[in-house]
Amino acid sequence: MTIFTKIIRKEIPADIVYEDEDCLAFRDISPQAPVHVLVIPKKEIKSIADLAPEDGPLVGRMMLAIQKLAAELGLEPGYRVVTNIGPDGGQSVDHLHFHILGGRQLGWPPG
Ligand code: AMP
Repeated sequence: MTIFTKIIRKEIPADIVYEDEDCLAFRDISPQAPVHVLVIPKKEIKSIADLAPEDGPLVGRMMLAIQKLAAELGLEPGYRVVTNIGPDGGQSVDHLHFHILGGRQLGWPPG
């Protein structure tokens, strides 16, 4: 179990901005942009590398939740959705999460 499961269970606090039966979104504790929100599935999935075929619809619903959230967060000028996978990908919490980053001009390529 990771810290994100504890957030899902409301055992530790988070600044939750969206919740439905499949997923939860909350502000990153260490924001890298004026808007930095994490969208996570309630199901414990380690990363994209651990998705099963039956998780496809869940991930699709998460993408639609991200689309809706981005509009609500005022990100019409653009934003980035990132998911880090494994050590080389820079993943620090082993529970699938999509970062929504925006509110400033973002650089490319990432480090
Ligand atoms: P990653 O490095 O892609 O695994 O992203 C994990 C993210 O979770 C980092 O951006 C952390 O700042 C964030 N994070 C870790 N613990 C918490 C927490 N308790 N509440 C909100 N965000 C967190």
